Amino acid sequence: AVKINVPSTEIIKKLIGLGVMASINQEIDFETAEVVASELGVKIELEDVEEEVAEMLNVEEEEDEENLIHRPPVITVMGHVDHGKTSLLDAIRKTSVTAKEAGGITQHIGAYMVKTNDEAITFIDTPGHEAFTAMRHRGASITDIAVLVVAADDGVMPQTVEALNHARAAKVPIIVAINKIDKPGANPDKVKQELTEYNLVAEEWGGDTIFVPVSAMTREGLDTLLEMILLVAEVQELKANPDRLSKGTVIDAKLDKGRGVVATLLVNAGTLRVGDSVVSGTSYGKIRAMLNDKGKKVKTAGPSTPVEILGLNEVPEAGEEFYAVKDDRTARQIADKRRTHLKEQKVKRSAPLSLDELYNHIKQGEVQDINIIIKGDVQGSVEALKQSLEKLTNEEVRVNIIHGGVGAVTESDVMLAAASNGIIIGFNVRPGNNVNALAEREEVDLRLYRVIYDAIADVEQAMKGMLAPEY
Ligand code: GDP
Repeated sequence: AVKINVPSTEIIKKLIGLGVMASINQEIDFETAEVVASELGVKIELEDVEEEVAEMLNVEEEEDEENLIHRPPVITVMGHVDHGKTSLLDAIRKTSVTAKEAGGITQHIGAYMVKTNDEAITFIDTPGHEAFTAMRHRGASITDIAVLVVAADDGVMPQTVEALNHARAAKVPIIVAINKIDKPGANPDKVKQELTEYNLVAEEWGGDTIFVPVSAMTREGLDTLLEMILLVAEVQELKANPDRLSKGTVIDAKLDKGRGVVATLLVNAGTLRVGDSVVSGTSYGKIRAMLNDKGKKVKTAGPSTPVEILGLNEVPEAGEEFYAVKDDRTARQIADKRRTHLKEQKVKRSAPLSLDELYNHIKQGEVQDINIIIKGDVQGSVEALKQSLEKLTNEEVRVNIIHGGVGAVTESDVMLAAASNGIIIGFNVRPGNNVNALAEREEVDLRLYRVIYDAIADVEQAMKGMLAPEY
């Protein structure tokens, strides 16, 4: 009332007219305020906290090329269950741990670093594409290279395909580790052969994908795998400025009885120091102590280094970004700002793509790609749908099938759709348990069809803005 110079009784009257029995010191939500304001001829806008925060953090600034130096690559290991992801991560980890350290604490902090030929490589210690996609969904793209593990005695399995599509959707280069080559039934060529169907063609077969035969058990090939990782990383020219306030991603966090909030951070740029004030989401604090991946106290952590920190006031969310700021006050201010605006932020969160809204986004030039996940009862119909949908691509929008497979729609599909701003089309399949609820929560457009033509027609109509509304 004060801001728009209208008596408060006037506003209360309007509210009562809308059926909101509000008193003068009551909070109303933004949407109600918007209606009342517009009736009074005033247009209101929601304050954008993140914009303000971004200004306080100075995040937009481009780095001068001359300040940038090489940073180690960050690797995620993915693949089918039991193909040896955990074993491989453990075996690689041991390459860097000296005998003395190995006897001591081998604590896992969510990521670790190894050195090979004096070059460092960081591994995310939680295997699997679920973790990968969950991170990406929260806006964190920390992985530089994905290592796809395929067991040589088992070959390509459903989760192998899922994993490679998750990596592709994130535009992360893939190195294939053919594992368990020590086993009698191992057939590395079969793995290569099978993966050609998914456009991962080995270099020696004229493609551009690196395949490395390994054994997590005998450690054969591990050195080569690390070398190949460095080779792919070199092409990526990964760089960061170490001389600035640090920023990065929360990999893991928990409340420890003795130590309080413990968070593993992966530094992306700058150097993190003990005593720094940091903020992540609504969590903030001064770093009291810092431990590296071998459990040793450290004072600083540079780009691509994972460290465990103590000193935050509450448990931050994994996948959330963190920033070091100039002082405690700033950290607290940012956290407080976010906390008070949390409700509005949720309202404001832009909804992911849906077929109903597609045309509006296309018209406004916001959408150039439609990402679709197809699940069907048989490979034939998945393939038929895939080809027909891809043909709908026109000058304005490209239709990408980011994942297709036989079987029920799974939670992993929903997370992939959520992370890739995509939609899911199920043909003659039903969503698995809890999947509908998850899709609803993540606001992912999940559509089920019994007739292939109907699915194609819906996407086609949606692209033209002619989709009949769903009731
Ligand atoms: P994950 O589910 O992908 O993490 O797979 P695990 O690392 O748990 O491995 C599954 C099983 O395969 C375990 O019993 C491992 O001991 C075994 N395994 C993993 N790597 C190798 C290997 O290189 N050779 C052999 N022979 N067995 C392996």
